[in-house]
Amino acid sequence: MRFIDSHAHLADPAFDDDRDAVVSRAREAGAAAVVSIGESIAAADRAALIASSHHGFVFHTAGVHPHDAVQFDAARDIDAIRRHRESGAVAVGECGLDYHYDHSPREAQRTAFESQLRLAAELDAPVVVHSRDADGDIVAMLSDAARSHVRGVLHCFTGSHAVAEAALGHGWYVSFSGIVTFKKWDDLALLRLVPDDRLLVESDAPYLAPVPFRGKRNEPSFVPRTIDRLAGVRGATVEHIARCTMENACRLFGLAIPDPRP
Ligand SMILES: [Zn+2]
Ligand SMILES: [Zn+2]
Repeated sequence: MRFIDSHAHLADPAFDDDRDAVVSRAREAGAAAVVSIGESIAAADRAALIASSHHGFVFHTAGVHPHDAVQFDAARDIDAIRRHRESGAVAVGECGLDYHYDHSPREAQRTAFESQLRLAAELDAPVVVHSRDADGDIVAMLSDAARSHVRGVLHCFTGSHAVAEAALGHGWYVSFSGIVTFKKWDDLALLRLVPDDRLLVESDAPYLAPVPFRGKRNEPSFVPRTIDRLAGVRGATVEHIARCTMENACRLFGLAIPDPRP
């Protein structure tokens, strides 16, 4: 099986001791690429270095996470994201809204997200979106962005069918993480709702390790567990899910990987 991990925080300090080994295990597990997320400018700077030392296998993104929105400075940060895009970042983000933790005031979250959506429109770049307990505002802002032809992915999606359907209706993608392997996950209909050509998979490493690694540090080589789960619920083969999600990641992020065939 060949697959793409569409969302991993490889720049996280959790990988400082053995990052190269983690990347090697991802390759051995069948990964064709890993998208390493820059959830802050500092993380994006580190992710860019990791991408350059694993050229054509690790790709990076740059954005400001809603948790850090209170520190967002449009003049400084939008400039930094733009420079990252010019030097090869495959997406803007992760950005979005998190009204569950509310680590930043909601007004600041909306301001930071809005600026990044506008930049994505200007640069014609895909967006990696984090959305938690913010359904109304996410749908409204995503619909606005879609009018400027912005496309992206709702990453680690665990939200309502209405939000997923709104995003899909605007041509967006939906990505599932190891959460869908947890015993308490019971929304199987959500896992069937996303069509083959809009489905992505991700580790969200170092968080959210799938069963049977739950509670451990997560890494991209565990993504096949999530693919397994999706295949079972959707009545498809793991090869089919791996191939669809790989093609979708290549299309969304414009990834140039040496041999995109499964
Ligand atoms: Zn996230
Ligand atoms: Zn993330």
